[in-house]
Amino acid sequence: MTPFTKRIGVLGAGQLGRMLAIAGYPLGQKFGFYGSSDDEPSALLGHMYKQADDVDSLQTLVAFADVITYESENTDVDRVREIAKTTPVFPAEKSLFVSQHRGREKGMFDQLNIPCAPYQVVDSLDSLKVAVTEIGLPAVLKTTTEGYDGKGQFVLKSEEQIEQAWSEIGNRELILEGFVDFKRELSIVAVRNADNEHVYYPLVQNVHHDGILRYTIAPARDISDDIQQQAESYMHSLLDELDHVGVLTLELFETEEGLVANEMAPRVHNSGHWTIEGALTSQFENHIRAITGLPLGATTPRQPMAAMINIIGETGPVETVLKTPNAFLHLYDKAERSGRKLGHINVIAENEEQLFEMFKKFEAFLPK
Ligand code: AMP
Repeated sequence: MTPFTKRIGVLGAGQLGRMLAIAGYPLGQKFGFYGSSDDEPSALLGHMYKQADDVDSLQTLVAFADVITYESENTDVDRVREIAKTTPVFPAEKSLFVSQHRGREKGMFDQLNIPCAPYQVVDSLDSLKVAVTEIGLPAVLKTTTEGYDGKGQFVLKSEEQIEQAWSEIGNRELILEGFVDFKRELSIVAVRNADNEHVYYPLVQNVHHDGILRYTIAPARDISDDIQQQAESYMHSLLDELDHVGVLTLELFETEEGLVANEMAPRVHNSGHWTIEGALTSQFENHIRAITGLPLGATTPRQPMAAMINIIGETGPVETVLKTPNAFLHLYDKAERSGRKLGHINVIAENEEQLFEMFKKFEAFLPK
């Protein structure tokens, strides 16, 4: 045990838990996971407290842990509230409560003067029809909770589609958002610790295909200092308002009129995976530092350019990655399945030309 070793309990045992543990071990931290099976990506990186066993395994994890964190914004808030009575949970309940509901999230953006698309929460076909007249078309209809990778969404282009949209994803609470005519999709990862230190990574550009993040370019090209400052000031307000401890990610649209917030995640994020080799301190290490009360690490990029390419569905020709200097392979120990995130490739480069060469080399991993 080092003087600052903490036993960290992670709710969830997927690739994010795995990468948190990989980053936390050099700092002397210990890990336990609350997962569903020994086949999950985090399984060999700490003791697995299995959900299937009984409720006691959660209590055993909590008894083991000095601090609890989680991998997903869909973590049960009541459970977190209960755990927090005996053991600190970071990020705390408020961050989770706000970010697991698109309506609450947008309400907070409004409160903090962070621009976002016009929106209305609806719970019936009639209220959806009213919202369409107020917001106008095109618009995006989304479930208020549990949407991910573009699931539970319907782009409404004409009034004739309203009933179809309601029957496809409706019969539950939805949110109608004005369609944002964006140039690029960006995101920013920020970290706050309990001593109120804040650090920010540069804005990155994210490219999605079929609703799934396929690659990230870091930093995003041609971002003025003003825009970076703007994004940091939004994050500063959110981190303080939430009294957030840990990593917080904000997804944004870049438009002609400036940045427009889309959604946030109270956790390490796929668009921050580039930081493992791309920045002086990774998002994973900084999350661990934040939740264990350590000073935060520098977020400065190691090279002028970096990128992260997701490995989706099948593992593919990963030997190419191993043979390429300045390319780094991260596999999550998951079985191949269509649309599944199995790993990612990080690359660092001195300039755009080098980065472009890498993308050509790793074409097999990019969307067709
Ligand atoms: P989300 O689950 O909110 O991240 O949405 C998934 C994807 O749908 C985003 O990455 C965007 O490409 C697109 N999208 C979501 N909301 C909007 C919007 N209001 N206007 C335009 N495109 C959107």
